Amino acid sequence: MVVLHLHDALHIGMPDAIQQTLMKVMGWENNINLDAGRNFFELAPISLAKLAQEIAEKFNTRTIRVEGDPEMIVKNVMTSLGNAGADRCVPALGRDDVDAFIFGETDEWESAGYVLDAIKAGRKKALIYIGHMESEQPGMKHLAEQMKEYVTEVPVEFITLPELFWRTDNPVWEFEQLS
Ligand SMILES: [Zn+2]
Repeated sequence: MVVLHLHDALHIGMPDAIQQTLMKVMGWENNINLDAGRNFFELAPISLAKLAQEIAEKFNTRTIRVEGDPEMIVKNVMTSLGNAGADRCVPALGRDDVDAFIFGETDEWESAGYVLDAIKAGRKKALIYIGHMESEQPGMKHLAEQMKEYVTEVPVEFITLPELFWRTDNPVWEFEQLS
């Protein structure tokens, strides 16, 4: 058996294929703000709570976490799926044209603290944590679909990774279904 790691190359691509999938999953193809960069989107104004609900639904995750006022109106967002350390998260939120930063995981002790300080300083900022694997799964599924077109010698199948985490009000462990 040969195991190939085929993920990081997707991020190196121009554009980042994982990010591209976010655009498709969210239906934000016409919201991209290319003047700012490929990870920036200008949305129709929406409350933070509603935006987070839409993301949770479309990424099929039950453990999304959000920091910020649920009533806050979000218009400009930056995204960074998978790992987005504080070195990416903090500068993003420091920009005047980013209300909310949407990502997989971050250095919580730095990024969440930054947002708290920013809010206390009177700025309107928010973080939406999708979860590392949960944020990237649609991109990997898309890769499998593409591979089917040029890898014909062996079957290509995408195996969905069940969500790693659960909430105390909904304790579930779906990994037994994989074995
Ligand atoms: Zn990744």
